[in-house]
Amino acid sequence: MNQRGPPQTIFINNEWHDAVSKKTFPTINPATGEVICQVAEGDKADVDKAVKAARAAFQLGSPWRRMDASHRGKLLNRLADLIERDRAYLAALETLDNGKPYSIAYLVDLDMVVKCLRYFAGWSDKFHGKTIPLDGDFFCYTRHEPVGVCGQIIPWNFPLLMQAWKLGPALATGNVVVMKVAEQTPLSALYVANLIKEAGFPPGVVNIIPGYGPTAGAAISAHMDVDKVAFTGSTEVGHLIKKAAAESNLKRVTLELGGKSPNIIMSDADMDWAVDQAHFALFFNQGQCCCAGSRTYVQEDIYNEFVERSVEKAKSRVVGNPFDFKTEQGPQVDEEQFKKILGYISTGKREGAKLLCGGNPAADRGYFVQPTVFGDVQDNMTIAREEIFGPVMQIMKFKTIEEIIERANNSKYGLAAAVFTKDIDKANYVSQALRAGTVWVNCYNVFGAQAPFGGYKASGNGRELGEYGLEAYLEVKNVTIKIPQKNS
Ligand code: NAP
Ligand code: MG
Repeated sequence: MNQRGPPQTIFINNEWHDAVSKKTFPTINPATGEVICQVAEGDKADVDKAVKAARAAFQLGSPWRRMDASHRGKLLNRLADLIERDRAYLAALETLDNGKPYSIAYLVDLDMVVKCLRYFAGWSDKFHGKTIPLDGDFFCYTRHEPVGVCGQIIPWNFPLLMQAWKLGPALATGNVVVMKVAEQTPLSALYVANLIKEAGFPPGVVNIIPGYGPTAGAAISAHMDVDKVAFTGSTEVGHLIKKAAAESNLKRVTLELGGKSPNIIMSDADMDWAVDQAHFALFFNQGQCCCAGSRTYVQEDIYNEFVERSVEKAKSRVVGNPFDFKTEQGPQVDEEQFKKILGYISTGKREGAKLLCGGNPAADRGYFVQPTVFGDVQDNMTIAREEIFGPVMQIMKFKTIEEIIERANNSKYGLAAAVFTKDIDKANYVSQALRAGTVWVNCYNVFGAQAPFGGYKASGNGRELGEYGLEAYLEVKNVTIKIPQKNS
């Protein structure tokens, strides 16, 4: 189908389809609240079609199964080339649909997308099994084989990047994909579907369905012919995905869920850098990061100065039109998130936290929230326990290292954590004691395709990125062959 603007339908078998139900839903520009366009609303019937196409593409002897591993890498590199070619357009779509500042989408998100695809392109012909000295006269070896049809359900906070994190390892290892994009932000990922076709991936290898979680998403996680599901999003939905997998075919599940990550500022930290990084840790991406440093713990002797400077910094944050190059913070992704965040701010005030700046909508239209800082926050307050996913900073005071380790670990989550100190012994001690999948020391939000990311506890299961990220997409097959002891 020839379309003007970004594709707005369902991508199955390298072709564009309306939803079987013919239904559509609007996608909204969060900077204005206006409808950008209607998008096909995929549901169970479309998931069934996509799974059939993916399964056919995965049959033994299919072009994809017979393709040289090195050629899979070449296709992933070609996809990265095409994304680089269309980088400005993709960044603009991301900003339009998600609200993140264009400069960030272009410089940060798109850069990481391309690097992620190239990193996994390199792995395509470099993961391999072992030969094993089994007792007896046997030749025993392992093969690392693709899992098969992978359902991938992605969120709206980094639409293109989450797509790349999921496609990179799945395709490098020879899997086929049925992806559901978030209902708030379908456009950029659908545009990439065209590039997947242009890059030369065979039909059915990647299928992309816009639609809602409880219908299209649930159909993927409950599907009897999906071998694995990878999900990024809320912890509540993470529970539903695991349950659906358990009640259907016990498909493999990897989850990257929420967090309430502690960011610990010791009194010997470099004050300028710590204030700067704590601000970045929380406010980056409108506060819509699973790993946001949303519990800022500050040692008591520097607490007052740190709070004062953090408030100054929040007040000077430039909020506005995401296409303006001066803008540091755009709107929240949708009205639901906007209202939820304002609700948390009210709860914070009601429970006795001290509102030091912000706390209100930042514009007459669109879903903008003022950069907000709460001081004197107590660990048992709702805003110190639950994921707000917005530009709302909680600052808490602590006295000793032992105390702060216990408090930092006292959360159902364990995604990320950070510590700021000039003392290497403290840095080592604290980073080993924290129960989190990532610990940053004197930095925050440092990501690379080479390093694994994922959660302890209710922050998820499994790891994405790096060599560890391949594991979720591979089955290990043990082949044992009897070796004859003499030639007959
Ligand atoms: P969400 O519902 O968990 O959305 C993530 C993805 O899961 C979306 O594609 C969503 O579809 C889908 N989904 C929803 N219900 C499903 C179901 N029953 N079965 C299968 N898939 C389903 O998250 P949200 O409602 O957009 O945001 C709520 C909160 O989640 C946020 O405030 C934040 O705390 C957290 N969150 C975390 C991350 C992260 O990076 N870990 C990302 C986004 C949100 P729809 O498009 O229809 O929602
Ligand atoms: Mg949702």
